[in-house]
Amino acid sequence: MTIKKIIIFILLLIGNETNAQSDYEIRYLGNMGIAIIHNDSAIIIDGLHDYYDKYYLPTDTTALQAILQKKMPYKNIVAIVITHKHSDHFDSLLVTNVANTHASAILLGGNQTKSLLGINVKGRFIAATDSLLHMINPNIRMTLKKIPHINPARHAAIENYRIEVVWNGFRLIHFGDAEILPVTIQGLKQAPNVLVVPDWYLENKAILYLNQLNPKKIILSHIDPAAKKISKPEKLKPELYQFLVYGDKIKIKNDLKRND
Ligand SMILES: [Zn+2]
Repeated sequence: MTIKKIIIFILLLIGNETNAQSDYEIRYLGNMGIAIIHNDSAIIIDGLHDYYDKYYLPTDTTALQAILQKKMPYKNIVAIVITHKHSDHFDSLLVTNVANTHASAILLGGNQTKSLLGINVKGRFIAATDSLLHMINPNIRMTLKKIPHINPARHAAIENYRIEVVWNGFRLIHFGDAEILPVTIQGLKQAPNVLVVPDWYLENKAILYLNQLNPKKIILSHIDPAAKKISKPEKLKPELYQFLVYGDKIKIKNDLKRND
């Protein structure tokens, strides 16, 4: 190889690396917990909770160690977001530990969650009352909206928040433990890149809402760890992924237009 060819080869390698870094990756952390990773930054949604019951997968300990040691891809956690206070979505001690390690991370959620946190991190928590729009930085916009929790007969008092993240052009929506209702998708622009839903959203009634919202990809979560992969319902139009075991992840190429 001539020197010129070697230089071109190195430049191509660097170019590939840059492209790879600008992708978005969604990693499974347990139950409905995910991390959105882009370049060297990450946002955690519902990803910090302990063992609760055999039906719910607690936070992946390998990922948790990397988070607490600030190892890639968790070098820089910019936000920790919580849909609601239930123990299969949130653990105050774990959130406090991670928040103390990642001292510049913004904490977002409802007042019910905030009230369960220690005094030292409470001050950093931005709490929504019904709805909230918060810019984490000029590139990341978070929108929270209170939507009813599943099984209102039992959980009417639980404040469950829908989380919308817009990171440059990339848009992800996380429903938390949403009831199947028209209000769940109300006010959302169609065709987000990713929608994270609980497994009961494959019911016929919910499929109508999912098709209406028309996300590019749906991630099904909140799945009993003993369950097998569910086959995609015929009526469901968007692509379906299932987050079922630790290590599950999807990568989204950065071919997004900056129209937000
Ligand atoms: Zn819940």
